Amino acid sequence: MYHYADIVLPVPFDSFTYSIPAALQEKVMRGCRVVVPFGKSKIYTGIVVRTHNNAPTGVEVKAIMEVLDERPVVNEMQFRFWQWISQYYICPLGDVYKAAMPGGMKPHDGKALKEAQHRRPSADALSVAGNSQPLHALNKAQGEALAEIEASFHEKDITLLHGVTSSGKTEIYIHIINKHIEAGKQVLYLLPEIALTTQITERLQQVFGERMGVYHSKFTEAQRLNVYKRQCSDHPFQVILGVRSSIFLPFQELGLIIIDEEHDTSYKQQEPAPRYHARNAAMMLARLFGAKTLLGTATPAFETYHLARKGRYGYVKLTERYLGLQLPEIKIIDIKEERRKKRMHGAFSFPLIEAIRGALSRHEQIILFQNRRGFSHFIECKQCGWVPRCPHCDVSLTYHKKTGMLTCHYCGYTVHLPEKCPNCEEVNFADVGLGTEKVEGQIQELFPEAITLRMDLDTAKTRNQYERIIHDFATHQADILIGTQMVTKGLDFDHVSVVGILDANTMLNLPDFRSHERTFHILSQVAGRAGRKKEAGVVILQTRSADSEIINQIAANDYWGMFYQEMTERRDFHYPPFVRLIYVYLRHRDNQLLDHLAQETATRLRNVFGERVLGPDCPPISRIQSLHIRKIVLKMEPTLPTEQVRKNLIAIQQETLSNPIAKNLNIYYDVDPM
Ligand code: ADP
Ligand code: ZN
Ligand code: ZN
Repeated sequence: MYHYADIVLPVPFDSFTYSIPAALQEKVMRGCRVVVPFGKSKIYTGIVVRTHNNAPTGVEVKAIMEVLDERPVVNEMQFRFWQWISQYYICPLGDVYKAAMPGGMKPHDGKALKEAQHRRPSADALSVAGNSQPLHALNKAQGEALAEIEASFHEKDITLLHGVTSSGKTEIYIHIINKHIEAGKQVLYLLPEIALTTQITERLQQVFGERMGVYHSKFTEAQRLNVYKRQCSDHPFQVILGVRSSIFLPFQELGLIIIDEEHDTSYKQQEPAPRYHARNAAMMLARLFGAKTLLGTATPAFETYHLARKGRYGYVKLTERYLGLQLPEIKIIDIKEERRKKRMHGAFSFPLIEAIRGALSRHEQIILFQNRRGFSHFIECKQCGWVPRCPHCDVSLTYHKKTGMLTCHYCGYTVHLPEKCPNCEEVNFADVGLGTEKVEGQIQELFPEAITLRMDLDTAKTRNQYERIIHDFATHQADILIGTQMVTKGLDFDHVSVVGILDANTMLNLPDFRSHERTFHILSQVAGRAGRKKEAGVVILQTRSADSEIINQIAANDYWGMFYQEMTERRDFHYPPFVRLIYVYLRHRDNQLLDHLAQETATRLRNVFGERVLGPDCPPISRIQSLHIRKIVLKMEPTLPTEQVRKNLIAIQQETLSNPIAKNLNIYYDVDPM
């Protein structure tokens, strides 16, 4: 009989010890949920990590109030996985628990608790009934790729499928999934948040029907709770199609993980902790199960490609589009030159206008890409140069013309555009920069007869709005789709023949060592939306640096050239994959105090890690939501023992926080930052 239990709670600590009342002794088991008092008046749901008889000394031990489960809802694999996440990403187990369990599994107060207990697992709303359809037959190239993947799995646990857009990667996944579930295994199919649309869901549901569950963060808590519970039961889904958080679902016989669009940076969770990379974490999950991992993309992350070249991953290439369609031709248009020749209409060059006109006359569709929402980037007083800025963040406000509002895209702060400049009282504003709203306005002037749709964070706030836009465009109820990055993710439209990139420079100049790589991924993806079903499409890429190497590499689809050049630079300047990066962030309201604490922390880090420590510096956006920010960069050689590094980092964090003046300091690590 055990008298104590260590319990992980949704707070940033590893675990807390509670006593087990006699009446509950039979019931308190590792992996079960319990209800416990916390602090002065809170009540939390936690998970039992361990039962034991080591009475804690010097602290008051509270008793467990209630046990919610008769059998564990967190299995041994999950515990091992949570432990790995907590250690690798240097964050307490409590943070992992918070991220890992759907809200409905960890009710906060008595009321929610009752509801959760009494909610019966309803007939699952997420899987469609109905007969499964047979698989599409693969064409020759696809069949060969499938055979190569299978052969590669005999030797390696991880394989990269490098297949051009619209080569039929999804069809290949479907065949592989089918084989694994026929062998009695479970499959997890991961997609980036925004790429998990009804388009892809329906495609898989036609084949897997009730055997597949979908897990999405935009689903209701009840829906996610249902999937979680079903995965704990004796009849779990065999296939889970889900976003990054689905790596935390309970699996019993996991045999395969597919990570589609593996290059996508949104697999990295930025906020809050655990700041995990779902691709890398999923590969660890697969390893725990002895399962295989298939990474798929048209443009591999450079880190992935690097490992494939080194032979760590298997590598399979697919160079043909399904039905042998050509990849779209990418035409570079020099907008500086066009402007000089006075051939620009607003943001549109003559060749782009002609291409749009041609497509409209042939009743084909057009996608226009501009990676900035709102009307203009910012507003400026022509008289005195005043620019409205966010009072809480270190950024200018974005102008939204339709609403007449200025908005901060970091904290949501919104005000009316003032009638006159508060600085010089003139009424003479200029809008600087190009947002999707402005693009839409100009298109309506150029082509009043065309029906347009706009997809960005303003028009597609909810999942329903987003799906609606995709549906309307896919069913050809509009001619032109204008959007941000949202239009790039894995969408499969049949009638798009022209893709216009309005300004390829916006992403290139970001102060980030991955900005070229990212630009390559995003522009290749958006280009890949053209000419997917009929004759080849065309991409008009407008840029202010038509001569630059990267723009030409993108246009020539020269992945290798781009990769080789970047790797040389990253080796010379010590960036991943040649070093392991860890960022240390410190945040505080008081800028001076923060300066002091950041210096102190950097000194402590230097005492241990020496030259590997850079900073502290102010990041490009040095204040968000009234908190000032400092960043310290650690560049570790990959051979450094991670466990020792982790211990040192935790000790330094504790030391900084133990200073009474650091009471309200927020300090955390971002491991493998993106
Ligand atoms: P990718 O994932 O590589 O971009 P998809 O799997 O979406 O490519 O395939 C592009 C389009 O071609 C889809 O509409 C898909 O249904 C169709 N397609 C690809 N392969 C086949 C096949 N073997 N049989 C029937 N349709 C296919
Ligand atoms: Zn002014
Ligand atoms: Zn703000």
